Amino acid sequence: MTDMPPAILSPDTFQRRLLDWFDAHGRHDLPWQQDRSPYRVWVSEVMLQQTQVATVIPYFERFMARFPDVHALAAADQDEVLHLWTGLGYYARGRNLHKAARTVVEEHGGEFPVHSLEAMAELPGIGRSTAGAVIAQSTGRRAVILDGNVKRVLTRLHAVEGWPGRPAVERRLWALAEHYTPETRLVDFTQAMMDLGATLCRRGQPDCERCPFADVCRAHARGEPRRFPESKPKKATPTRRATLLMLQDAQGRVLLEQRPSSGLWGGLWSLPQFEAPHDLQAWLDQHAPAARLDAPWEAFTHVFSHFRLEITPQPARVSRLDAVGEARRWVDPAEPDGIGLAAPVKGLLDALRPFTLSVQDAPHSPSSQE
Ligand code: SF4
Repeated sequence: MTDMPPAILSPDTFQRRLLDWFDAHGRHDLPWQQDRSPYRVWVSEVMLQQTQVATVIPYFERFMARFPDVHALAAADQDEVLHLWTGLGYYARGRNLHKAARTVVEEHGGEFPVHSLEAMAELPGIGRSTAGAVIAQSTGRRAVILDGNVKRVLTRLHAVEGWPGRPAVERRLWALAEHYTPETRLVDFTQAMMDLGATLCRRGQPDCERCPFADVCRAHARGEPRRFPESKPKKATPTRRATLLMLQDAQGRVLLEQRPSSGLWGGLWSLPQFEAPHDLQAWLDQHAPAARLDAPWEAFTHVFSHFRLEITPQPARVSRLDAVGEARRWVDPAEPDGIGLAAPVKGLLDALRPFTLSVQDAPHSPSSQE
Protein backbone atom coordinates (compact mmCIF):
# COMPACT_ATOMS: atom_id res chain seq x y z
CA MET A 1 0.00 0.00 0.00
CA THR A 2 3.02 2.32 0.12
CA ASP A 3 2.31 3.30 -3.47
CA MET A 4 -1.15 4.59 -2.66
CA PRO A 5 -1.81 8.34 -2.79
CA PRO A 6 -3.64 9.73 0.28
CA ALA A 7 -7.25 8.53 0.15
CA ILE A 8 -9.95 11.19 -0.14
CA LEU A 9 -12.58 9.16 1.76
CA SER A 10 -12.72 6.13 4.04
CA PRO A 11 -13.71 2.94 2.18
CA ASP A 12 -17.08 2.91 3.99
CA THR A 13 -18.00 6.42 2.99
CA PHE A 14 -16.79 5.90 -0.57
CA GLN A 15 -18.84 2.70 -0.95
CA ARG A 16 -21.97 4.20 0.59
CA ARG A 17 -21.89 7.25 -1.66
CA LEU A 18 -21.19 5.19 -4.76
CA LEU A 19 -23.86 2.56 -4.07
CA ASP A 20 -26.50 5.18 -3.18
CA TRP A 21 -25.79 6.87 -6.49
CA PHE A 22 -25.87 3.51 -8.32
CA ASP A 23 -29.19 2.49 -6.76
CA ALA A 24 -30.76 5.68 -8.04
CA HIS A 25 -28.92 6.30 -11.31
CA GLY A 26 -26.90 3.24 -12.34
CA ARG A 27 -27.68 0.84 -15.17
CA HIS A 28 -29.69 -2.16 -14.05
CA ASP A 29 -31.08 -3.69 -17.21
CA LEU A 30 -28.15 -4.41 -19.50
CA PRO A 31 -28.51 -7.80 -21.21
CA TRP A 32 -25.54 -9.33 -19.35
CA GLN A 33 -27.01 -8.26 -16.02
CA GLN A 34 -29.69 -10.91 -16.50
CA ASP A 35 -28.46 -14.44 -15.81
CA ARG A 36 -24.95 -13.52 -14.70
CA SER A 37 -23.16 -16.72 -15.57
CA PRO A 38 -19.36 -16.49 -15.82
CA TYR A 39 -19.72 -17.16 -19.56
CA ARG A 40 -22.12 -14.27 -20.22
CA VAL A 41 -20.22 -11.85 -17.99
CA TRP A 42 -16.93 -12.84 -19.60
CA VAL A 43 -18.22 -12.33 -23.18
CA SER A 44 -19.66 -8.94 -22.24
CA GLU A 45 -16.47 -7.85 -20.49
CA VAL A 46 -14.29 -8.77 -23.46
CA MET A 47 -16.64 -6.99 -25.87
CA LEU A 48 -16.64 -3.93 -23.60
CA GLN A 49 -12.84 -3.76 -23.34
CA GLN A 50 -12.53 -1.18 -26.10
CA THR A 51 -16.12 -0.61 -27.14
CA GLN A 52 -19.03 1.34 -25.70
CA VAL A 53 -22.12 -0.29 -24.19
CA ALA A 54 -24.57 0.92 -26.85
CA THR A 55 -22.44 -0.63 -29.61
CA VAL A 56 -21.88 -3.86 -27.70
CA ILE A 57 -25.53 -4.71 -26.90
CA PRO A 58 -26.64 -5.97 -30.36
CA TYR A 59 -23.34 -7.85 -30.83
CA PHE A 60 -23.75 -9.48 -27.43
CA GLU A 61 -27.30 -10.55 -28.19
CA ARG A 62 -26.40 -12.03 -31.58
CA PHE A 63 -23.42 -13.79 -30.02
CA MET A 64 -25.53 -15.31 -27.24
CA ALA A 65 -28.21 -16.43 -29.69
CA ARG A 66 -25.61 -18.31 -31.72
CA PHE A 67 -23.27 -19.42 -28.91
CA PRO A 68 -25.45 -19.77 -25.80
CA ASP A 69 -22.69 -21.43 -23.74
CA VAL A 70 -18.97 -22.01 -23.68
CA HIS A 71 -19.31 -25.44 -25.32
CA ALA A 72 -21.08 -23.95 -28.35
CA LEU A 73 -18.37 -21.30 -28.69
CA ALA A 74 -15.53 -23.80 -28.28
CA ALA A 75 -17.03 -26.03 -30.98
CA ALA A 76 -17.44 -23.21 -33.51
CA ASP A 77 -15.18 -22.39 -36.45
CA GLN A 78 -13.01 -19.34 -35.97
CA ASP A 79 -14.50 -17.93 -39.19
CA GLU A 80 -17.96 -17.93 -37.69
CA VAL A 81 -16.78 -16.32 -34.45
CA LEU A 82 -15.03 -13.56 -36.38
CA HIS A 83 -18.09 -13.12 -38.58
CA LEU A 84 -20.13 -12.28 -35.48
CA TRP A 85 -17.32 -9.95 -34.39
CA THR A 86 -17.26 -8.07 -37.72
CA GLY A 87 -17.51 -4.34 -37.00
CA LEU A 88 -16.49 -4.52 -33.33
CA GLY A 89 -12.81 -4.03 -34.15
CA TYR A 90 -9.78 -5.23 -32.20
CA TYR A 91 -10.18 -8.70 -33.68
CA ALA A 92 -7.54 -10.23 -31.43
CA ARG A 93 -10.31 -10.08 -28.81
CA GLY A 94 -12.52 -12.35 -30.92
CA ARG A 95 -9.70 -14.79 -31.61
CA ASN A 96 -8.72 -14.89 -27.93
CA LEU A 97 -12.34 -15.37 -26.89
CA HIS A 98 -12.51 -18.44 -29.08
CA LYS A 99 -9.17 -19.76 -27.79
CA ALA A 100 -10.19 -19.15 -24.18
CA ALA A 101 -13.48 -21.04 -24.70
CA ARG A 102 -11.50 -24.04 -25.97
CA THR A 103 -9.15 -23.80 -22.97
CA VAL A 104 -12.12 -23.71 -20.57
CA VAL A 105 -13.65 -26.79 -22.20
CA GLU A 106 -10.42 -28.76 -22.64
CA GLU A 107 -8.59 -27.88 -19.42
CA HIS A 108 -11.33 -26.87 -16.97
CA GLY A 109 -14.11 -29.30 -17.88
CA GLY A 110 -16.28 -26.50 -19.31
CA GLU A 111 -16.35 -24.51 -16.05
CA PHE A 112 -14.66 -21.11 -15.76
CA PRO A 113 -12.03 -21.23 -12.99
CA VAL A 114 -13.72 -18.44 -11.04
CA HIS A 115 -12.32 -19.81 -7.77
CA SER A 116 -8.89 -18.44 -8.75
CA LEU A 117 -7.99 -14.97 -9.98
CA GLU A 118 -4.67 -16.31 -11.27
CA ALA A 119 -6.28 -19.14 -13.26
CA MET A 120 -8.84 -16.72 -14.75
CA ALA A 121 -6.16 -14.18 -15.67
CA GLU A 122 -4.22 -16.90 -17.51
CA LEU A 123 -7.01 -17.46 -20.03
CA PRO A 124 -6.21 -15.87 -23.41
CA GLY A 125 -7.30 -12.23 -23.61
CA ILE A 126 -8.20 -11.91 -19.91
CA GLY A 127 -6.01 -9.63 -17.81
CA ARG A 128 -6.21 -9.00 -14.09
CA SER A 129 -9.06 -6.49 -14.36
CA THR A 130 -11.28 -8.60 -16.64
CA ALA A 131 -10.65 -11.64 -14.42
CA GLY A 132 -11.68 -9.57 -11.39
CA ALA A 133 -14.82 -8.30 -13.13
CA VAL A 134 -15.94 -11.81 -14.11
CA ILE A 135 -15.35 -13.18 -10.61
CA ALA A 136 -17.04 -10.25 -8.84
CA GLN A 137 -20.04 -10.14 -11.16
CA SER A 138 -20.69 -13.84 -11.56
CA THR A 139 -19.96 -15.02 -7.99
CA GLY A 140 -20.31 -11.89 -5.86
CA ARG A 141 -16.94 -12.66 -4.29
CA ARG A 142 -14.51 -9.84 -3.60
CA ALA A 143 -12.33 -9.09 -6.62
CA VAL A 144 -10.91 -5.76 -7.71
CA ILE A 145 -11.21 -4.20 -11.16
CA LEU A 146 -9.25 -1.46 -12.87
CA ASP A 147 -10.61 -1.02 -16.38
CA GLY A 148 -10.44 2.18 -18.43
CA ASN A 149 -13.49 3.71 -16.74
CA VAL A 150 -12.21 3.00 -13.23
CA LYS A 151 -8.76 4.36 -14.09
CA ARG A 152 -10.35 7.60 -15.26
CA VAL A 153 -12.45 7.97 -12.11
CA LEU A 154 -9.55 7.23 -9.75
CA THR A 155 -6.99 9.44 -11.52
CA ARG A 156 -9.46 12.33 -11.37
CA LEU A 157 -10.59 11.82 -7.79
CA HIS A 158 -6.96 11.84 -6.64
CA ALA A 159 -5.45 14.00 -9.38
CA VAL A 160 -2.96 11.22 -10.09
CA GLU A 161 -0.25 12.52 -12.40
CA GLY A 162 1.33 10.43 -15.14
CA TRP A 163 0.06 8.16 -17.89
CA PRO A 164 -1.78 5.14 -16.34
CA GLY A 165 0.10 2.81 -18.70
CA ARG A 166 3.31 3.49 -16.74
CA PRO A 167 3.84 0.69 -14.21
CA ALA A 168 4.40 3.08 -11.28
CA VAL A 169 1.13 4.92 -12.01
CA GLU A 170 -0.76 1.70 -12.56
CA ARG A 171 0.48 0.36 -9.19
CA ARG A 172 -0.88 3.47 -7.44
CA LEU A 173 -4.24 3.03 -9.14
CA TRP A 174 -4.47 -0.66 -8.21
CA ALA A 175 -3.71 0.31 -4.61
CA LEU A 176 -6.55 2.83 -4.65
CA ALA A 177 -8.93 0.34 -6.27
CA GLU A 178 -8.02 -2.24 -3.58
CA HIS A 179 -8.57 0.35 -0.86
CA TYR A 180 -12.09 1.27 -1.94
CA THR A 181 -13.42 -2.19 -2.92
CA PRO A 182 -15.87 -3.58 -0.33
CA GLU A 183 -16.43 -7.10 1.01
CA THR A 184 -20.13 -7.12 0.15
CA ARG A 185 -22.38 -6.05 -2.75
CA LEU A 186 -19.54 -6.75 -5.18
CA VAL A 187 -21.84 -7.16 -8.17
CA ASP A 188 -23.30 -3.70 -7.67
CA PHE A 189 -20.04 -2.04 -6.64
CA THR A 190 -18.25 -3.31 -9.74
CA GLN A 191 -21.04 -2.20 -12.04
CA ALA A 192 -21.29 1.13 -10.20
CA MET A 193 -17.61 1.95 -10.72
CA MET A 194 -17.94 1.22 -14.42
CA ASP A 195 -21.19 3.18 -14.68
CA LEU A 196 -19.78 6.22 -12.91
CA GLY A 197 -16.93 6.33 -15.41
CA ALA A 198 -19.14 5.69 -18.43
CA THR A 199 -22.09 7.95 -17.63
CA LEU A 200 -20.81 10.79 -15.38
CA CYS A 201 -17.04 10.89 -15.33
CA ARG A 202 -16.92 10.75 -19.11
CA ARG A 203 -13.69 11.23 -20.98
CA GLY A 204 -14.69 14.37 -22.86
CA GLN A 205 -17.38 15.93 -20.70
CA PRO A 206 -17.49 14.93 -17.05
CA ASP A 207 -20.80 15.81 -15.43
CA CYS A 208 -19.30 16.89 -12.09
CA GLU A 209 -22.47 18.66 -10.96
CA ARG A 210 -24.27 15.33 -10.60
CA CYS A 211 -21.30 13.36 -9.24
CA PRO A 212 -21.51 11.96 -5.69
CA PHE A 213 -17.82 12.81 -5.22
CA ALA A 214 -17.84 16.40 -6.50
CA ASP A 215 -17.05 17.85 -3.05
CA VAL A 216 -13.90 15.76 -2.59
CA CYS A 217 -12.65 15.27 -6.16
CA ARG A 218 -9.23 16.85 -6.58
CA ALA A 219 -9.36 17.23 -10.36
CA HIS A 220 -12.76 18.93 -10.06
CA ALA A 221 -11.47 21.23 -7.30
CA ARG A 222 -8.66 22.29 -9.59
CA GLY A 223 -11.17 22.97 -12.36
CA GLU A 224 -9.38 20.67 -14.77
CA PRO A 225 -10.92 17.17 -14.70
CA ARG A 226 -10.17 16.59 -18.36
CA ARG A 227 -6.43 16.85 -17.74
CA PHE A 228 -6.72 13.42 -16.06
CA PRO A 229 -5.80 10.75 -16.88
CA GLU A 230 -2.75 11.91 -18.79
CA SER A 231 -2.53 10.68 -22.35
CA LYS A 232 0.05 8.26 -23.55
CA PRO A 233 3.22 10.17 -24.53
CA LYS A 234 2.82 10.84 -28.21
CA LYS A 235 4.87 9.16 -30.85
CA ALA A 236 4.16 10.35 -34.35
CA THR A 237 1.59 7.95 -35.83
CA PRO A 238 3.05 6.63 -39.07
CA THR A 239 0.93 6.41 -42.19
CA ARG A 240 1.18 3.36 -44.40
CA ARG A 241 -0.38 3.03 -47.81
CA ALA A 242 -2.05 0.04 -49.38
CA THR A 243 -4.08 -0.80 -52.45
CA LEU A 244 -6.99 -3.20 -51.98
CA LEU A 245 -7.86 -5.07 -55.14
CA MET A 246 -11.62 -5.42 -55.69
CA LEU A 247 -11.50 -8.07 -58.40
CA GLN A 248 -14.96 -9.06 -59.62
CA ASP A 249 -15.76 -11.97 -61.86
CA ALA A 250 -18.41 -12.07 -64.54
CA GLN A 251 -21.10 -12.80 -61.92
CA GLY A 252 -20.10 -9.82 -59.83
CA ARG A 253 -18.53 -11.94 -57.12
CA VAL A 254 -15.48 -10.50 -55.40
CA LEU A 255 -12.23 -12.29 -54.71
CA LEU A 256 -11.31 -12.41 -51.01
CA GLU A 257 -8.32 -13.96 -49.30
CA GLN A 258 -7.83 -15.00 -45.71
CA ARG A 259 -5.24 -13.08 -43.71
CA PRO A 260 -2.62 -15.01 -41.74
CA SER A 261 -3.96 -16.00 -38.32
CA SER A 262 -1.91 -13.44 -36.40
CA GLY A 263 -1.17 -9.79 -37.08
CA LEU A 264 -3.32 -7.16 -38.72
CA TRP A 265 -6.89 -8.43 -39.30
CA GLY A 266 -5.57 -11.89 -38.37
CA GLY A 267 -7.81 -14.71 -39.58
CA LEU A 268 -10.28 -12.33 -41.24
CA TRP A 269 -11.18 -12.36 -44.90
CA SER A 270 -9.93 -9.35 -46.83
CA LEU A 271 -9.37 -8.03 -50.31
CA PRO A 272 -5.94 -8.82 -51.75
CA GLN A 273 -3.69 -6.08 -50.40
CA PHE A 274 -0.60 -4.54 -52.00
CA GLU A 275 1.83 -2.00 -50.69
CA ALA A 276 3.23 -0.87 -54.03
CA PRO A 277 1.71 -0.63 -57.55
CA HIS A 278 4.30 -3.02 -58.96
CA ASP A 279 3.26 -5.68 -56.39
CA LEU A 280 -0.31 -5.40 -57.66
CA GLN A 281 0.84 -5.65 -61.25
CA ALA A 282 3.03 -8.69 -60.50
CA TRP A 283 0.07 -10.40 -58.78
CA LEU A 284 -2.22 -9.68 -61.73
CA ASP A 285 0.40 -10.91 -64.21
CA GLN A 286 0.59 -14.18 -62.30
CA HIS A 287 -3.05 -14.78 -61.38
CA ALA A 288 -5.28 -12.76 -63.67
CA PRO A 289 -3.43 -11.49 -66.75
CA ALA A 290 -6.73 -10.83 -68.54
CA ALA A 291 -8.06 -8.59 -65.74
CA ARG A 292 -9.20 -5.11 -66.71
CA LEU A 293 -8.49 -2.36 -64.20
CA ASP A 294 -11.06 0.40 -63.74
CA ALA A 295 -10.22 3.84 -62.33
CA PRO A 296 -9.21 3.59 -58.67
CA TRP A 297 -11.71 4.86 -56.10
CA GLU A 298 -10.86 7.76 -53.88
CA ALA A 299 -8.42 6.82 -51.10
CA PHE A 300 -9.61 6.81 -47.47
CA THR A 301 -7.83 6.38 -44.15
CA HIS A 302 -8.44 3.65 -41.59
CA VAL A 303 -6.93 4.33 -38.18
CA PHE A 304 -5.34 1.50 -36.20
CA SER A 305 -4.00 1.87 -32.67
CA HIS A 306 -0.40 2.30 -33.84
CA PHE A 307 -0.61 3.51 -37.43
CA ARG A 308 -2.90 4.91 -40.09
CA LEU A 309 -3.56 3.00 -43.26
CA GLU A 310 -4.35 5.00 -46.36
CA ILE A 311 -6.34 2.63 -48.52
CA THR A 312 -6.85 2.99 -52.27
CA PRO A 313 -9.59 0.67 -53.55
CA GLN A 314 -8.75 -0.62 -57.01
CA PRO A 315 -11.70 -2.11 -58.91
CA ALA A 316 -10.98 -4.66 -61.62
CA ARG A 317 -12.94 -7.17 -63.71
CA VAL A 318 -12.01 -10.56 -64.94
CA SER A 319 -14.21 -12.87 -66.96
CA ARG A 320 -12.35 -16.02 -66.07
CA LEU A 321 -9.84 -17.11 -63.50
CA ASP A 322 -8.73 -20.71 -63.67
CA ALA A 323 -7.69 -21.15 -60.08
CA VAL A 324 -7.81 -18.84 -57.12
CA GLY A 325 -5.39 -20.85 -54.99
CA GLU A 326 -5.58 -21.67 -51.30
CA ALA A 327 -7.16 -19.40 -48.74
CA ARG A 328 -9.00 -17.43 -51.43
CA ARG A 329 -12.64 -17.53 -52.41
CA TRP A 330 -15.21 -15.75 -54.53
CA VAL A 331 -17.87 -14.04 -52.46
CA ASP A 332 -21.16 -12.40 -53.33
CA PRO A 333 -20.73 -8.87 -51.89
CA ALA A 334 -24.42 -8.85 -50.90
CA GLU A 335 -24.05 -12.01 -48.82
CA PRO A 336 -20.56 -12.50 -47.54
CA ASP A 337 -21.47 -15.89 -46.26
CA GLY A 338 -20.71 -16.23 -42.55
CA ILE A 339 -17.10 -15.10 -42.60
CA GLY A 340 -15.24 -12.47 -40.56
CA LEU A 341 -14.51 -9.26 -42.41
CA ALA A 342 -12.50 -6.21 -41.35
CA ALA A 343 -14.74 -3.12 -41.14
CA PRO A 344 -13.24 -1.24 -44.14
CA VAL A 345 -13.50 -4.37 -46.28
CA LYS A 346 -17.14 -4.81 -45.27
CA GLY A 347 -17.72 -1.15 -46.25
CA LEU A 348 -16.14 -1.74 -49.67
CA LEU A 349 -18.23 -4.87 -50.29
CA ASP A 350 -21.37 -2.90 -49.41
CA ALA A 351 -20.29 -0.19 -51.85
CA LEU A 352 -19.74 -2.81 -54.55
CA ARG A 353 -23.28 -4.17 -54.41
CA PRO A 354 -24.76 -1.73 -56.97
CA PHE A 355 -21.86 -2.54 -59.29
CA THR A 356 -22.64 -6.21 -58.87
CA LEU A 357 -26.14 -5.67 -60.23
CA SER A 358 -24.84 -3.87 -63.28
CA VAL A 359 -22.22 -6.56 -63.87
CA GLN A 360 -24.86 -9.29 -63.57
CA ASP A 361 -27.14 -7.51 -66.01
CA ALA A 362 -24.40 -7.24 -68.60
CA PRO A 363 -23.65 -10.03 -71.10
CA HIS A 364 -20.73 -12.06 -69.91
CA SER A 365 -18.62 -15.04 -70.67
CA PRO A 366 -18.85 -18.26 -68.62
CA SER A 367 -18.21 -17.83 -64.95
CA SER A 368 -14.83 -18.40 -63.41
CA GLN A 369 -14.03 -21.38 -61.28
CA GLU A 370 -13.87 -21.48 -57.51
S1 SF4 B 1 -16.29 15.23 -9.73
FE1 SF4 B 1 -16.17 15.19 -11.93
S2 SF4 B 1 -14.06 14.61 -12.40
FE2 SF4 B 1 -14.42 14.12 -10.26
S3 SF4 B 1 -15.02 11.97 -10.28
FE3 SF4 B 1 -16.89 13.17 -10.35
S4 SF4 B 1 -17.37 13.40 -12.55
FE4 SF4 B 1 -15.23 12.72 -12.36
